[in-house]
Amino acid sequence: MLLKVLSVGPLSVNCSILLDEERKEALVIDPGADASRIIEELKDFKLVGILATHGHIDHVGVVKTLKERTDAIFYMNEEDLFLLEDTLWPGFDRYIGAELPCPEPDISIREGDTIKFGSVEIRVLHTPGHTPGLCCFYIPQHSLLIAGDLLFRGGVGRWDLPGGDLQALKKSLRRVFEELPDDTLVVTGHYDKTTIGHERVFNPYLRELL
Ligand SMILES: [Zn+2]
Repeated sequence: MLLKVLSVGPLSVNCSILLDEERKEALVIDPGADASRIIEELKDFKLVGILATHGHIDHVGVVKTLKERTDAIFYMNEEDLFLLEDTLWPGFDRYIGAELPCPEPDISIREGDTIKFGSVEIRVLHTPGHTPGLCCFYIPQHSLLIAGDLLFRGGVGRWDLPGGDLQALKKSLRRVFEELPDDTLVVTGHYDKTTIGHERVFNPYLRELL
């Protein structure tokens, strides 16, 4: 499996593309913007699935375009359905280039689910707090966590947006830092990647929250 991370849109959302070079299949996680760049990366592959860590429009902004062009199945936790048409701020959808309304997921994912992709098993960790339905995608075979807006390099997801919950966020962070090894590579929701070990030592928020 090959991982490509594209930084898309004005908020530098990390859109992860998993490529199975043997089967020529692809999965896209958090296609927030820049549909044409994402489609360019997929040109020799069949897109079989679209995963969203959560329902904020900067993470699902071009699900609609990808769904229209492919037969890909869209996976998201149903507790974030209420966010799919929420622009969060007036004009935010135009600013980030989101195509609304985002289609509803074909499959609602939940804690403990696994999604098979070629020889890889993607484990769904339901980690609410930033939004009620936020799910991280953990691939133990590759020591990889796609964390969405749960965690950033040097930061954590905000909990003041609709459906945010600080107590839930603390619980989710505690759980991830208890369960995952230090060498786990973390693709965060925006900006730089990190590792569980790096954040355990250097993240100033975790000292207070955990
Ligand atoms: Zn978000």
